[in-house]
Amino acid sequence: MDKLRFFSIGSGSSGNCYYFGNSVHGILIDAGISSKTIRKELKQIGVDFSQIMGIFVTHDHHDHIKSIGTLGEKFHIPVYATAKTHDGIDHSYGMTQKLSLSKRFLENGEEVDIGDFNVLSFPVSHDGTDNGGFFIKYMEHRIIVATDLGRINEHIYNHIPQSDIVILEANYDLEMLKNGKYPYYLKQRILSDTGHLGNQEAGLFLAENWHPELKHIYLCHLSNDNNHPELAKRTVEMCMNNKGIRTGSDVDVVPLKRSASDLVVFD
Ligand SMILES: [Zn+2]
Ligand SMILES: [Zn+2]
Repeated sequence: MDKLRFFSIGSGSSGNCYYFGNSVHGILIDAGISSKTIRKELKQIGVDFSQIMGIFVTHDHHDHIKSIGTLGEKFHIPVYATAKTHDGIDHSYGMTQKLSLSKRFLENGEEVDIGDFNVLSFPVSHDGTDNGGFFIKYMEHRIIVATDLGRINEHIYNHIPQSDIVILEANYDLEMLKNGKYPYYLKQRILSDTGHLGNQEAGLFLAENWHPELKHIYLCHLSNDNNHPELAKRTVEMCMNNKGIRTGSDVDVVPLKRSASDLVVFD
């Protein structure tokens, strides 16, 4: 059996990029860091751009799309997003290279088979032009990727019972955000329904919806200013422990680093 590999190349406001693959090929979720860095990091795990079958874009904020123009047009990797997100990308100032031939459309609620992967797009609540998460099937694995969301919605509720791997945003600690240096309007934006998900909200949701098949939780898009990896992990674990879930044995809770994390190979 060809084992699933997960490699977080970057997570957070300085750039997001996640790789899922097997020994032959793989996909990327977002490409919000430089193509040079993505290429260099993928090389570390023995993966070349020619093995990437597609990039799936959650939304058009700069930390998610920085290098999709280069990856799409120069390296000919298909870029999947909703029509609205593509429109937002086309109008984004940070794009040095516009997408043309590499553009692919995947609307929310639609799925696509790509190599051995099946990727379903679902809507989330955030303030990009359009905002999505992904439910990925690979062999017996079921994966939720939900980053940049102001609240948990029914799509995430509906997919978690089948999932063994969940990548969920834990952006901020509420006290750190409240007492931090951000201006009022920015705090309000982050806290709003179309902002970001906090440690506590992520933890309570995971504690309520955990099931024995859910073995791996990755906390993503941690704020550099309003969070710490250890604090995010501890908060989520505490919520789960309060429900009698033994973190570390029933389920692993791992905060993703802003830079590349270790490659994970799932059994
Ligand atoms: Zn973001
Ligand atoms: Zn965003």
